[in-house]
Amino acid sequence: MSGSAPYDIQIKLLMIGDSGVGKTCLLLRYANDSFSPTFITTIGIDFKIKNIDIDTTKIKLQIWDTAGQERFRTITTSYFRGAQGILLVYDVTDRRSFESIRNWISQIQQHADVHVNKILVGNKCDMLDEKVVSTEEGEKLAKEFGIQFWECSAKNDINVEESFIGIARGVKDRL
Ligand code: GDP
Ligand code: MG
Repeated sequence: MSGSAPYDIQIKLLMIGDSGVGKTCLLLRYANDSFSPTFITTIGIDFKIKNIDIDTTKIKLQIWDTAGQERFRTITTSYFRGAQGILLVYDVTDRRSFESIRNWISQIQQHADVHVNKILVGNKCDMLDEKVVSTEEGEKLAKEFGIQFWECSAKNDINVEESFIGIARGVKDRL
């Protein structure tokens, strides 16, 4: 089992963002290489493990997904405990989810470690005709907070691995 493979360091990552932006699909794409077109209620999924190598370091990524708590736009403090990296996800076809990012960042500032690494991810970039949040807007917001930015698609497997590796590397480089 991959969960028991030897590793040098373990990194805890969280997925955060409004309900429906594709957090669970991104995690399933990355950890299982699958995509389910039907809406998956997150209840039941706590975290997934993915073992990766960055440079010569064997890293065990433990990636947590919100169990539907994000529907209320608040997440309990315990979810943030021990988190070293956070993927802030919005949906490029849903402006409201992009505007929520500031709210999520303020929740991170209240509940998470001050040194936590963050990455901004605009998901569903495959839906070109329905895209309402431009790439430039995403870049601008990421720049304001000094964080990395990727536009990705869980559906078409675009930049998913890059996003997770990007945040994992950010955490590793600061250890
Ligand atoms: P969550 O609430 O943030 O966990 O969102 P889900 O992962 O449950 O996804 C919500 C909906 O968006 C589902 O209907 C997915 O099929 C759809 N979805 C997720 N990722 C993508 C994507 O990259 N492209 C498209 N077109 N749809 C997606
Ligand atoms: Mg979910």
